[in-house]
Amino acid sequence: MASSKPERNRQSRKRLQVNSPVSGYRESGLLNITGYVEESLANGPGGPRAVVWTQGCRHACPGCQNPDTWDTQKVVKLISAEELAKKILANPNHRGVTFSGGEPFLQARGLAQVSRIIRAERGLTTVCYSGFTYEELTGPKAADASEEFLREIDLLIDGRYVEALKSPDPKAHIWRGSSNQRLIWLKPDFLKVERQFDENVTEVHVLPNGTIIFTGFGGQSFQI
Ligand code: SF4
Repeated sequence: MASSKPERNRQSRKRLQVNSPVSGYRESGLLNITGYVEESLANGPGGPRAVVWTQGCRHACPGCQNPDTWDTQKVVKLISAEELAKKILANPNHRGVTFSGGEPFLQARGLAQVSRIIRAERGLTTVCYSGFTYEELTGPKAADASEEFLREIDLLIDGRYVEALKSPDPKAHIWRGSSNQRLIWLKPDFLKVERQFDENVTEVHVLPNGTIIFTGFGGQSFQI
C-alpha cells in the first residue's frame, strides 16, 4: 500500500499545523470558549456579570448539563485574553466576569490574564466554577497555572456535580448545582458585594442573532 501520496499528505498536514491558529491554539495561548452572555445575574453575586463558558472538561460528571463542552480537542471559538477582556469591558454595566465550563482550569493561564486586565482597568471581579476541588487545585497534580489563576479569583465554586446531591429547594445551595460544591471566598472583601438573589434562578438571554440561552441552574444551552 506504500505510495508517495500519504507522505505528501503528511507534509502538508505539517505545514498546516505550523500556520493554523486552530491546530496550534494551545501553543499560541488563545482561549477556546464555547459560550458568552452579557449582564447575567444568575451566575454569582456582584452582578451584572459577563459569563464565559470554556471548552474542554475531563470530569465526566453523570447528569452534567453541558456534555457538549467535554471534548478537549474540539475548537469552538478562539479568542485572545486581551480580546476577551476588551469584550467584557465594552459593556459599562459589567461589574465582573464568571468563568464556567467545561473546566476553566484547563485554560488557567489565559483566564488569569483576562481577570488581571479587567481588574486593573475597572476593578471588575472574577467568579470561577471548577470541577476540581480547592485541595486538588492547590495540590501537586494541579493543572498548569492553577495557582496563578487562583490568585485572581474572588469566589471559587469548587467540586464535581453530583446529581444525587441536587436539591429541588432553590434556596438549598445558591449558585451551585449540588450541595457538595463549596463557595470559597478567596478574597474576603467580595463577601460584602450585593447579592441580587437569595436563591437559584434561571435566566433567559436572547442574543442579537435570535439564539435563546437559558442559564442559571435550571438548564443551559450555548451559542456564540
Ligand atoms: S465539571 Fe461541570 S462541565 Fe465538567 S462534567 Fe462536571 S458538571 Fe459537566
